[in-house]
Amino acid sequence: MDAITPLRKSFFTTPKGRFSAAHEIVTKAAEGVLALTFPDDCRICNTRLSGFPTYPVCPSCLAHPEPLSADAFCVQCHAPFYSESALDLDGRCRLCRSGLTQFDALYCVGAYEGRLRELIHLFKYESMERLGKPLGAFLRAGLPREAVFDVMTPMPIHPQRMRERGFNQAEVLAKEVAKVSQVPLKTLVKRRRNTAKQAGLSGKQRRVNVNDAFVVTDPELIRGKRILLVDDVLTTGASANACALTLKRAGASYVAILALARADRRIGGGPETAIALSQFV
Ligand SMILES: [Zn+2]
Ligand SMILES: [Zn+2]
Repeated sequence: MDAITPLRKSFFTTPKGRFSAAHEIVTKAAEGVLALTFPDDCRICNTRLSGFPTYPVCPSCLAHPEPLSADAFCVQCHAPFYSESALDLDGRCRLCRSGLTQFDALYCVGAYEGRLRELIHLFKYESMERLGKPLGAFLRAGLPREAVFDVMTPMPIHPQRMRERGFNQAEVLAKEVAKVSQVPLKTLVKRRRNTAKQAGLSGKQRRVNVNDAFVVTDPELIRGKRILLVDDVLTTGASANACALTLKRAGASYVAILALARADRRIGGGPETAIALSQFV
């Protein structure tokens, strides 16, 4: 009897303490799960997150990004320039003037840097698909109201990336645009195969490599159509350019690209961009 007294005491005579201990265990477990799902701090600026946030990012980091600012933009590819002297009288840059740009227009929300870059990294590389909702809302705002399209399509990704990530980020974004648009979303282009990495290939090999990368799903859906090609990030713009070329060759009458962010190379339409694009035309 005496032997069990201490146990009885601890187990039966301190209900408040027992409850507190159990509660603490449950709370800690729940916090652990939440911490795994969403950390306590904003993943971008480290501000403490309050309540039960939908995203692991604070409201100010989720605010609409600053538009890409520059003194001059090409009217066709929307590349930023230091001055209007880089553009012709029609407002086009040297690349677009020389016919290296395969798309007819490009709309882009912001620069691929700072907060927007961090958000895109969380979305893409940490597979936080739910961030596609606010990012898709940014993208919708980047599309001019007067733009008219018959169909929109996401930029396809490599099948291997699709397996690793579980989703095509461009498709997730395009769905958010389609939600408030009358324009139907269809898969018009696919990656033919896993193209080899561009690094280390000669110019000719690169041309074959990327121009061979895209294949249309059904030319009937493309012929004579005004198409909006949705992408997440443009770095050199070469892949989007090659994809636009594939759509044009299949008979698209107009192809515009809508992207969330673009790398701001600000090189005055110089040789780097020219080389990047010319490898794919
Ligand atoms: Zn933040
Ligand atoms: Zn241009």
